[in-house]
Amino acid sequence: MGKTMKLKDFKIAVILGLIGAEENTPKTKWTSGLTSFKVIVPQEIRYDSCTHMPVHGTSRRCALCSTTAVPHKTRWMCSRCNVGLCLTEKKNCFLDSHRK
Ligand SMILES: [Zn+2]
Ligand SMILES: [Zn+2]
Repeated sequence: MGKTMKLKDFKIAVILGLIGAEENTPKTKWTSGLTSFKVIVPQEIRYDSCTHMPVHGTSRRCALCSTTAVPHKTRWMCSRCNVGLCLTEKKNCFLDSHRK
């Protein structure tokens, strides 16, 4: 009797374990189905510098490349640093200024 009970308990434990494993994996299953057409950005990377956003506003001098001798004007600025930064195809001071 004792042996059969133990076996039953073991089986239940295994079944519960399987169900538990199933419940813990829908996220990976769900994201893996999307990877073919959607890039998943890890949250620690995605929200790492979320406060530094390029904001289009009034024309101001770039904080990185503009000098008194050669002023560079841009309409892009960082919402966090509150400074103007070039943001064009050829020139990306916004990216450069936030790279260590
Ligand atoms: Zn910034
Ligand atoms: Zn610049």
